[in-house]
Amino acid sequence: MRPQKLIPVCMLLMLLLMGCQPPASDPVDSPILSTITQSPDREIEASITPQPSVTPTLMPPCYLTELPADAASSYAVLGWQAFAAQMGINLAYFYFPADCSPDSIIRDGERILYSSLVPDDRIGLVVLNPVDDGMLGVFYEHLVRHEYWQMGPEDYPALLEDSAGVNKNLVFLRVDELNGDETIVGNPLEVMTSLAEHEYIHIVQSRSNPTLAEMVWGDKDYQYFIEGYANIGNVSSQRYYFETQAAIALVQNLDLMNRGGTLQPGIATALQELGMDSESFLANATPVYDRHIEAFFLRVGGQAYVDGLRQGVISPYLLFVRAGSGDLIAYDVIRALFNKLSTSLTPIDRRAVGYLDGPLDFITPHHSPNHLAMFVTGVSSSAWY
Ligand SMILES: [Zn+2]
Repeated sequence: MRPQKLIPVCMLLMLLLMGCQPPASDPVDSPILSTITQSPDREIEASITPQPSVTPTLMPPCYLTELPADAASSYAVLGWQAFAAQMGINLAYFYFPADCSPDSIIRDGERILYSSLVPDDRIGLVVLNPVDDGMLGVFYEHLVRHEYWQMGPEDYPALLEDSAGVNKNLVFLRVDELNGDETIVGNPLEVMTSLAEHEYIHIVQSRSNPTLAEMVWGDKDYQYFIEGYANIGNVSSQRYYFETQAAIALVQNLDLMNRGGTLQPGIATALQELGMDSESFLANATPVYDRHIEAFFLRVGGQAYVDGLRQGVISPYLLFVRAGSGDLIAYDVIRALFNKLSTSLTPIDRRAVGYLDGPLDFITPHHSPNHLAMFVTGVSSSAWY
């Protein structure tokens, strides 16, 4: 069912049946037709004319690019529209009705995943009814199994056998949870707008880290770090409450080290071990998403605190937002700093190291609403959410 396996088989069949003629090519360009066109015999020309209709052509897609009214007015879509308006980005919609045939599901899924239908200045929202076939069937099953309302490129490339050429500007949504479910806490539109930000952060992370999804699904520490970062300051997912707290503690520790004079030498040593220096680190600027980080620390710490976070050649703020946005050098530097500190820690340090060691394995496919409620009880009205 995987596209990379289908393609060689299809090519072999084409060679056998059609003599190397690709199915979608224009017959006028083929050597056979150009030879025949030179024939003076009109009857032969006339008999050739129907051939393009026999040649397989690109099938029209089953998906709709305009959403049905229910989906269009859902909190998920309104939330994405609100976030996209803030960011000045455009959305594209791919709605798969419940009656799409298995063949069209497979074909259209591959078309969306392995094409440039959604360029980097757009986000493609792929809305799925329950589906079993092709990669979209695998994605739908993944959404259900993990109780995800949406998933972006922190997930789906890891479900593909070959993710090298896959489009990372896509977010997959379940039609039955476009308004969340009974676990939603607070204003649904606000939650879904924040979830759009959360998923967009994963898209930014995937642009700096081409193996984001594979790392997230193969390395729990990295998963916690990536999810904690995407969740700071917004109400998108209470399941990451502890990761969010730990991410905040991490920034506080970097700041304490910086004020104590140990951060810059520590960064320099860590970079040296990675074969870099501060100048090359700074010159190698990667795109970051940090609106939520700045807004959060402004709210809880004020301008003076944020200004303090930005002090230093490589400031705690810069190191953190680059690592959180998918820069693996910045992430390795943070890991090196905390690995070296692990013998002499204050309680707040321990939380940060615990965060990087990932001892809190509550991101499981089996969490229940009760489990979620336990996290929610820890939420203070003025703290992280
Ligand atoms: Zn996430």
